[in-house]
Amino acid sequence: MNWISKFIKPKLKSLFKKKSSQDKDTLWTNCSCNNLILKEDLFKNYHCCPKCGIHHKISCEERFKLTFDNGFYDLIESPEPIDDPLQFTDSKPYKDRIAAARKKTGQRDAMMIAKGKIQNIDVIVGAQNFFYIGGAVGIASGEIFINAVDQAIKNKIPLIFFSCSGGQKLQESGLAICMMAKTTLGVNELKKNNIPFIICMTNPTAGGVTASWASLGDVIIAEPGATVSFAGARVIKDTVREELPPGFQTAEYLLDHGQVDAVIERKYLNSAIGSLLNVLLKNAETQAKQDLNDTVTIDKSIQAAS
Ligand SMILES: [Zn+2]
Repeated sequence: MNWISKFIKPKLKSLFKKKSSQDKDTLWTNCSCNNLILKEDLFKNYHCCPKCGIHHKISCEERFKLTFDNGFYDLIESPEPIDDPLQFTDSKPYKDRIAAARKKTGQRDAMMIAKGKIQNIDVIVGAQNFFYIGGAVGIASGEIFINAVDQAIKNKIPLIFFSCSGGQKLQESGLAICMMAKTTLGVNELKKNNIPFIICMTNPTAGGVTASWASLGDVIIAEPGATVSFAGARVIKDTVREELPPGFQTAEYLLDHGQVDAVIERKYLNSAIGSLLNVLLKNAETQAKQDLNDTVTIDKSIQAAS
């Protein structure tokens, strides 16, 4: 067996390494429709396949460039919690997984936030990068989300969030689960302050992210074909022991069943979100005036009573 581990395995590894480094330099990429696409064409088409229309996964900065007017934005720094609170190790140490994800994506965490304009309206935008450990949410992402909420409330401007995650980080166990409650309370603060909150679910949005802030937007948009779920389809099928309907857990299926308000192609998101914000901001302004009138009325009745 020794000759297999000493000779064959390293040989195979070097062949795969060579292939992946060649892939990096090539002008072409592939799509799940089995077509080869020029990277430049994919880039020009908002990272959507020009042949089948599939919306490819993108990094946070690519998302910001496509979402903000003219691609202009300012990144917002967030607090940096400790990387590995439980000193978790499975097949390899969690710290090593974090280091590899940072090297691969150039991001400190799967989530990033930025400030800029959409259709000339000041907004905070948050995004998740699936290429960073599946966009999984731990303490760091939770704190970044709360920072986005704080910034939106402080500046009195809407918050738009692009979800893209497999759920909570198992490497941070109960601490990651706590982030579901913390982010939900964050959304509650937005609502108390009449700050519009728009969610755009992108492929995939799953687990604890679907079960917390991603389902709490004033308006919930999804990109075409995005998988949106809590548990996976296979788990559900094995549990209920029934065939699942066609298109189960896709954005279009959820639109038909009322969980999603609109399915919008990536190239129209800037203008669609801008139009929605105009409506929501008018409503928020009316609501704020109503709240003020109610407070004045209550104060007057208290004065009259005393
Ligand atoms: Zn394609």
